[in-house]
Amino acid sequence: MSRPISIVTGAGRGIGRGIAIELAKLGHAVVINYAGNFAAADECLKLVREAGGEGITIRADVASAEDRARLVTDTLTAFGRIDLLVNNAGVAPNVRADILDAGEESFDRLININLKGPYFLTQAVANQMIEQVKSGATPFGLPQIVTITSISAYTASVNRGDYCVAKAGLAMMTSLFAARLAEFGIKVFEVRPGVIATDMTEGVKEKYDKLIAEGAWPIRRWGLPEDIGRAVAAIARNDFPFSTGEVFNIDGGFHLRTL
Ligand code: NAP
Repeated sequence: MSRPISIVTGAGRGIGRGIAIELAKLGHAVVINYAGNFAAADECLKLVREAGGEGITIRADVASAEDRARLVTDTLTAFGRIDLLVNNAGVAPNVRADILDAGEESFDRLININLKGPYFLTQAVANQMIEQVKSGATPFGLPQIVTITSISAYTASVNRGDYCVAKAGLAMMTSLFAARLAEFGIKVFEVRPGVIATDMTEGVKEKYDKLIAEGAWPIRRWGLPEDIGRAVAAIARNDFPFSTGEVFNIDGGFHLRTL
């Protein structure tokens, strides 16, 4: 395949779709992974093609070991290589509950989808990438891995502790794989979004509209999937050749401490 090959998990809608479109603008072939919403994934594929890319859709639950293995093998069957993995798929808690009450069921679901899934998908893809590097199958440069975390990696929201713990874990996952894969030239990055307008935040739109108006972060607007997509595209273009394990805050300046 004479294009870079990317897997974007959870690419049917929201941030993942924004990433897929920006990668398509760079000419990538994008594997559009989704959990169940085929119509959204198919629409994303159409947009990817319109943007100059190519792609396929693959339904796979990142929380399932079997599905993760199939995602990798189906990608290799279709394109023969993986140049970029973007761990984006993630869910919010079904119900926001105080950490003094929240149950194990919500915790297990969140950790399985948001942390264990990307952790072992990264492991599987990293081993594939190492083989590619060893065999010289790197026509578009050395492979890279990007994980989409959240300001929740360091911001304590006591009504969704499971989500915060999962995102904090993903931040460490990035450090771990960056350290382990550097000897192979495989670079690993974290993109840390602030509040982004997607289905995930639709239910709390009014709350965030108010917070934005009050200046909860310096750049007073909602983040857009395209904002995250452009950050991932910069990494995909290899614009950071002497960096790995780096965190990119795409949050309107939320992380700044001001006095
Ligand atoms: P979204 O609009 O709810 O879209 C989620 C996407 O992930 C969908 O494509 C969904 O597939 C897919 N997905 C869900 N569970 C999956 C699973 N088990 N296996 C595979 N795919 C799965 O969410 P979003 O706002 O774009 O969020 C994307 C990522 O950014 C998440 O990791 C989220 O935590 C993170 N994030 C979001 C915000 C925000 O403000 N929106 C801020 C910081 C970080 P289907 O379409 O098939 O359901």
